[in-house]
Amino acid sequence: MQEAHPPSRVASRLAPFGTTIFAEMTRLAAEHKAINLSQGFPDFDGPGFIKDAAVKAIRERHNQYAKPTGEPDLVEALAAWWGQETGRDLDPYAEITVTSGCTEALAASFLGLIEPGDEVILFEPFYDSYRACCALAGAKPRFVALRPPGPDAGPTAQFRFDEAELRAAFSPRTKAILINTPHNPTGKVFSRKELDLIASLCVEHDAIAITDEVYEHLVFEPDKAHIRIATLPGMAERTVTLSSLGKTFSLTGWKIGWAIAPPHLTAGVRSAHQFLTFAVATPLQHAAAEAIRNGADSIADLVAQLAGSRAFLADTLRDAGLRVYWPAGGYFIMADHSALGIGDDVEFCRYLTEEVKVAAIPPSSFYSRAELGRSLVRFAFCKKLSTLEEAARRLGALGSASRTGAAAR
Ligand code: PMP
Ligand code: GLN
Repeated sequence: MQEAHPPSRVASRLAPFGTTIFAEMTRLAAEHKAINLSQGFPDFDGPGFIKDAAVKAIRERHNQYAKPTGEPDLVEALAAWWGQETGRDLDPYAEITVTSGCTEALAASFLGLIEPGDEVILFEPFYDSYRACCALAGAKPRFVALRPPGPDAGPTAQFRFDEAELRAAFSPRTKAILINTPHNPTGKVFSRKELDLIASLCVEHDAIAITDEVYEHLVFEPDKAHIRIATLPGMAERTVTLSSLGKTFSLTGWKIGWAIAPPHLTAGVRSAHQFLTFAVATPLQHAAAEAIRNGADSIADLVAQLAGSRAFLADTLRDAGLRVYWPAGGYFIMADHSALGIGDDVEFCRYLTEEVKVAAIPPSSFYSRAELGRSLVRFAFCKKLSTLEEAARRLGALGSASRTGAAAR
């Protein structure tokens, strides 16, 4: 007889979050042998020269604890790259902290810089860990909606926020605003005008900008450059810029990330980082340095590949009867599935995974109120063309299934 497990003892501040939707959908995809377009990771490998650099670093005995704030090789490479990108010199030892992916950089920023009771502004839909980070730090999230473009907005229109709503979200208790550009899950690349407005409100209210730029290199529209809010007037001294190696070099499993911030903010990030992970995988930091020094061609190749995958998946989804919101950057396409009449986002994704054998993410997890995401679905296009072609073959059945009512639930 199987012994019953004692009831779950998850701390109350984390209990509402359950298991992340990414782990849940990837598990469901494996169970049903579905093509996994849910969790955002490539099904192809990162560049050989970076993997070789990791092997070399291991062989050359870079195998003991790294410098807690980051290996000199990596922080110097990051500082040189930041100088090229922004024209501003960084002190690699006082302004960069290497973390276990952007996920740890986010947690360290919240835990090290936010007081319990502080308000933090989040755009919604949001990447799931932001809200959990608020809970860990005892912060109160204030939500500002990113709304999908209407039917007349043109084929490449992006999700937008309302200026008055953003202004109203700032209060005397606002400690920080979190910006994610290019944005997961909508693919929005924030414009200069939008970032100028956010920056001016940060200055006016003495708020910090925590900016998640993990998709910084993955922008596919020539007229929409990635703009770093840290480079806008008055923002260098109040911005914590977070990023990681995973998306830029198709090495999501390496979990090498970083936080770039002026010394007075870096002090907060480090105060938490030293107790969260202390230090990050030494040999992978050396390989990451090599990637950052010599990765420009690989990045250009990846952007070209992903731009093609984005177009292919968008066509596939339209053919299947979904309304596609065209992403300007990142890994994902958001679409509206309501015309198919297959339940809400959770029911739709379950049907898709179990019956059509293609897994996607139900976006209600990215909203403060689940009903806001009910008609949406998120697909990842960071996959080989052959994977997307097989997904297209399977999704081909979707439109006709819903038209005949076979899929009605
Ligand atoms: N932020 C966003 C917007 C993401 O999509 C992800 C997923 N990779 C992360 C942070 C986490 O990044 P990492 O894997 O480097 O921890
Ligand atoms: N960033 C990835 C996504 O949005 C998932 C990362 C994770 O599983 N934590 O799909």
